[in-house]
Amino acid sequence: MKHNTAALAAAFAAATGLTYPIAAELAQSDLSPMVAVACTATTGSVFLTLGTGLVTRLATRSFRCPDCTFAVRVRHTGAGETRRWQEIAADHPHHVGAVRS
Ligand SMILES: [Zn+2]
Repeated sequence: MKHNTAALAAAFAAATGLTYPIAAELAQSDLSPMVAVACTATTGSVFLTLGTGLVTRLATRSFRCPDCTFAVRVRHTGAGETRRWQEIAADHPHHVGAVRS
C-alpha cells in the first residue's frame, strides 16, 4: 500500500508537471479565462487519468489456472502472496472454458 501511495503521488506530480506549461501557454493567449481554465482542467484530468491507470496496471498481477481459462487478477500483492494466489487460481471448484490438454 505504501508503494501505491508513492506511485499515485508521482503520477499526480507528473500530471501537474505536464499540465503547467500548457496552462502557462494558454494564460498568455487571447482565449477567455474560462476557456483557458477549462482546457487546463481537462488536460490535467487526462494526464492524471493516464498516470493512475498506468499505476494500477503495473500493480495488477494475473494468476491463471493451468487447466482452463480461469484467471484471478489481484492488485498490490506482495512477493510472499504470489504462491498463495497461484494455488488459489489452480484450485478453484469448476474449471471454465476450454480445458487445456
Ligand atoms: Zn481451472
